[in-house]
Amino acid sequence: MKILFADKFPQAEQANLSQHDCHNQPDLSADSLPGAIADHDILVVRSTKVTPQTIDAATDLKLIIRAGAGTNTIDKAYAAEKGIAVCNTPGKNALAVAELAMGLMLSLDRHIPAATADLKNGVWNKKTYSVADGIYGKSVGVIGFGAIGQAFAERAQAFGMDVHIYDRNDKLNGSELQKQMGFRVHADMLSLVAAVDVISLHVPLNDVTRGMINADIVAAMRQHAMLINTSRGEVVDEAALLQGITEKGIRAGLDVFCHEPGSGSGAFDSALAKHPNVIGTHHIGASTQQAQLAVAQGVVNIINSFVAGELMHRVN
Ligand code: NAD
Repeated sequence: MKILFADKFPQAEQANLSQHDCHNQPDLSADSLPGAIADHDILVVRSTKVTPQTIDAATDLKLIIRAGAGTNTIDKAYAAEKGIAVCNTPGKNALAVAELAMGLMLSLDRHIPAATADLKNGVWNKKTYSVADGIYGKSVGVIGFGAIGQAFAERAQAFGMDVHIYDRNDKLNGSELQKQMGFRVHADMLSLVAAVDVISLHVPLNDVTRGMINADIVAAMRQHAMLINTSRGEVVDEAALLQGITEKGIRAGLDVFCHEPGSGSGAFDSALAKHPNVIGTHHIGASTQQAQLAVAQGVVNIINSFVAGELMHRVN
């Protein structure tokens, strides 16, 4: 098989694919991928967008693998139309994202980023930073109780938080984990957001979830509530959130934003990111060595199964 890796992929794991003709071009972008895809059988991507132009330019492509969970960057429907399977590696980076979500929540409560900046600037400012609420005993609402939502919920409960969940999939709402841990289930999102101090988003981006945190949801949130978003920027109506921040003192910990740069580095101008009530990271939720290794192993498994005539984790 001729395999194109259009994003960085751990070499140690690629060694397990030595029987194949592997090509690494980690600097490809949505625009340059069509020119490189030609006669490859398999395409492996992380964040590089797979557009209809890439699919049209592919002469032999049979399988696109998203090395990660979210597949909103791949035109899955068009790929299916052309007989190309799209697979992902669900759950492999869940712990890494859940850990970052916890970090954002704790950092918001204890003002760690601003305090660190002052220390580095030679400023001792104990008075300003001695104003945290504390996390123990607070309520947290998990929206999207899949792999990451579950990992986050378990960690939040270990911190003594009262965990509420909302998922559109009723099987998850009534899952063994939910029963065992006693998480409170909500039948709708409005009732959940009104009941909690912290909200953490763990849904995929799709037509239903785009802008799901809208003005009505923000209006239902408690004063000074926290919103943690490690899912996708577009799940949140950023203008509505900014208004909630200004009017209700809402605080936000964000790993993802609308209009993120298409590549790993570049200028980024976001009114939301600049606001003092917001702390943020550069879409790094899945970026731990542990997670990248687990994802890479998942990709190798998908390729091996595909060669053996099976498709694992097909999403289109
Ligand atoms: P998952 O498929 O295991 O879980 C998603 C859950 O959301 C499912 O239980 C699903 O039923 C639920 N859901 C879908 N639509 C919903 C809706 N309209 N209302 C309520 N619930 C809904 O996926 P996951 O592995 O937990 O990942 C979730 C998302 O996190 C990914 O799709 C991706 O966008 C994002 N993610 C971000 C990073 C990062 O680096 N920040 C890394 C990995 C994943």
